[in-house]
Amino acid sequence: MSERRSIAFIGSECHPFVKTGGLGDVMYALPRVLVNMDCDVRVILPRYECIPQKYQDKMVWRGSFFMDLGETGRNVHVGIMEYIWDGVVYDFLDNTEFFSGSKPYTDLVADIPKYCYFSKAALAALNYMDWIPDIIHCHDWQAGLVPVFLHTLFKDTPVGSAKTIITIHNLRFQGIYNVPTIKYWTGLPQEVFRYDRAAQGPNDQDANMFKGGLSYADRVTTVSQTYAQEIQTWEYGETLDAHLRYHKEKLSGIVNGIDYGMWDPATDAALAVNYDAQKALAGKKENKLALQKELGLEQDEGKLVIGLISRLTDQKGLDLVNAIIPEVMDENTQIVILGTGDKQYEDSFRYYAGQYPGSFAACIMYDESLAHRIYAGADALLVPSRFEPCGLTQLNAMRYGTLPIVRETGGLKDTVEPYNAIENTGNGFTFDRYDAGLLLDAIQRAKAVYNGERPIWDEMVLRDMAKDVSWENSAKQYKALYLELTPDR
Ligand code: ADP
Repeated sequence: MSERRSIAFIGSECHPFVKTGGLGDVMYALPRVLVNMDCDVRVILPRYECIPQKYQDKMVWRGSFFMDLGETGRNVHVGIMEYIWDGVVYDFLDNTEFFSGSKPYTDLVADIPKYCYFSKAALAALNYMDWIPDIIHCHDWQAGLVPVFLHTLFKDTPVGSAKTIITIHNLRFQGIYNVPTIKYWTGLPQEVFRYDRAAQGPNDQDANMFKGGLSYADRVTTVSQTYAQEIQTWEYGETLDAHLRYHKEKLSGIVNGIDYGMWDPATDAALAVNYDAQKALAGKKENKLALQKELGLEQDEGKLVIGLISRLTDQKGLDLVNAIIPEVMDENTQIVILGTGDKQYEDSFRYYAGQYPGSFAACIMYDESLAHRIYAGADALLVPSRFEPCGLTQLNAMRYGTLPIVRETGGLKDTVEPYNAIENTGNGFTFDRYDAGLLLDAIQRAKAVYNGERPIWDEMVLRDMAKDVSWENSAKQYKALYLELTPDR
């Protein structure tokens, strides 16, 4: 029997076309590894107007058709624009009514119809192209309705034979709207809107697109083993904990990796100087000096530079960070923040930049190239998240020899082994309860090693750079899951 499998990835973002967070990284990196593991992969994405022109220019027209859409009574256009790159086929679904605008997501009023359309159009496009995959691998709520459509309106069409997996990258966002609206945009039958399927709330009045996907998919995965357990609890379950416990037999966790081509300090074009493990200590110093210069910080290679690269939202533990900054700042410490998001955090970080000129940089922006330079030039990276499905920034940091300081939750717990002074093992500094005092304590422990036991710190830098955070292992686990789901293909 062949071990070759075909997989359609369906999701709302993918680096480098459009990315707002870790989902975009995964949609880029995992297919590229899978094509080297005896898999055919097509990635189906919206053709957002905001995709940079240089990528739009690479797309070629693959076909187009009209599709009925729910109770709208309309036949809507689905164009397929294709781009084949390093063995992965990207099919961008084109419809200017749904995918115009300067960013992929706006608000629920616009996003709900957008992803109702997208989920249905993705299946219709597979039928249209007559490319029937063994597996359809959907990602997050935006593709949540794919398994629902597959098992209802598309059940008796060619694509209906595919098995479905849905991956939870972040359970916080679920795509919830009242049932009549979702029905209007999807035309899904009443059986979908039961409490044990997509419906929720008093009198089952709301439809939850993610919940629907979790109900109908053959398998549910999430991006770390710890998060797979956590989401079955009230604290992390985002109101779906009971539903996930009910489906726990089909739920598993596979931790993310990072793309070693994209994240490699030895070749990274964004850095001031490149370095590998041999040149790490000198290379990081030079990158630190260049970063300090770029951001207007006092240039001093001996200072501990603590970075934070994040969406500025409640999820990321920024209230803890805010509460302790005055206690963290001293003559040997600098902080660099890169992120955008909630105004309260943007403002408070700007305030601290004013309070500590030359020592605190607040880069309130999204800038991938600067992110690379911070990973290289910082000594430590803060990730004190309230919850963290996997987290990629701590993986990037380790790859660049920057020690993570993390809360022991989700993927942070699974990927950062705490420093053990007796055994001289570990990759970073950790704390458990969501508490500002404990975060401060973890930072103080990091400072103590950095300032007092530099050789130990430097050993940890090298240990982190040597740690395997690549996609290989994780991709093997996905492949095993694909084979398990389709034993007789
Ligand atoms: P999430 O998906 O919750 O945002 P992850 O840690 O999984 O968090 O992924 C975040 C990704 O986005 C990382 O690759 C990180 O480097 C990148 N990133 C986050 N904020 C910024 C920013 N302001 N500028 C550049 N890259 C960013």
